[in-house]
Order: sequence, then C-alpha cells, then structure tokens
Amino acid sequence: MASNITLTMIKPDGVADGFTGKILDHIIAAGFKIQAMKLTRLSTEKAQEFYAVHKERPFYGELVAFMTEGPIVAAVLEKENAVEDFRKLIGATNPANAAEGTIRKLYATNIERNAIHGSDSDENAAIEAAFHFSGLERF
Ligand code: ATP
Ligand code: MG
Repeated sequence: MASNITLTMIKPDGVADGFTGKILDHIIAAGFKIQAMKLTRLSTEKAQEFYAVHKERPFYGELVAFMTEGPIVAAVLEKENAVEDFRKLIGATNPANAAEGTIRKLYATNIERNAIHGSDSDENAAIEAAFHFSGLERF
C-alpha cells in the first residue's frame, strides 16, 4: 500500500542561509500539507543513527559533522504519492545535476550541502517520521 507521507529536513545550510521560508513556500505550493514541523538540532549520535545506512561510505563523517553544525527544520508532509513527488520537487542529490526549478537547484551549494532531505521510500518515511516526532506532535 502506498503511503501518503514523507519526512523532510531543511538541512543546516538551508536554515543558516535564510532559505527556510522560501523552501516551505515551494513545498506548500506543490500541494504538501504539513502534518508536523519543528526547528531542532541533531546530536552527533542522532545524525549517525539517521544516516546509518551510509556508515561505510567515505563521506559519512563529514555528513554527520555537516548535519549537526546548526539547527534544521524537520517536517512530516502529507500528499498523495508523497515520497516520489517530494523527491521530484527537491531534485538530484548533486545540485549540479538537479532539474531547473527544483529546491536543490535553487538553494543547494554542492553534493553534500544540498539544502534538504526527502525520504527515499514509504517504509523509511514512516521510520524517519517516528524518529523526529511523537504521535501527539502530528496533525
Ligand atoms: P537525503 O537522504 O539527504 O535526502 P539523497 O537521498 O539525495 O539525500 P543519499 O545518497 O541518501 O542522497 O546521501 C545522503 C546525503 O549524504 C546527501 O544528501 C548529501 O548531503 C550527502 N552525500 C551524498 N553523497 C555524497 C558525496 N559523494 N559526497 C559528500 N556528501 C554526500
Ligand atoms: Mg537518501
């Protein structure tokens, strides 16, 4: 069964560069409803856990350092076909390869400092939503 939620994080670069409002405008204009949202900061342990799938990759240490360098905005977003549609909205991991008009094309700096996260599957969306939010924080 296709889920209708995805989990996003506006990453520390996006928040620090002042793009939170503009990025949220894109998300809302694309038809996503915000189920939950908060400004928060990942500890090293939490960032390691969130990106554990990448722990053998050469960029893992730098990724964890980047994701903990400042606050992020985490949100649960609801829309039909949320995971796939949101990945299209944010664009390719490397902004150099991202389509025109995508959030990463507009606001990302490079393949690491790429402004925003989007879940890659319905299963991970559920896991990641529960990672950041309790049931009482979702509407
Ligand atoms: P995310 O999971 O954050 O939505 P993604 O699914 O597009 O991004 P992943 O392959 O899951 O990409 O990589 C997770 C994150 O790790 C990337 O968004 C980026 O911040 C960082 N990253 C990925 N590849 C590299 C790389 N080659 N060098 C440096 N950082 C990288
Ligand atoms: Mg990913």
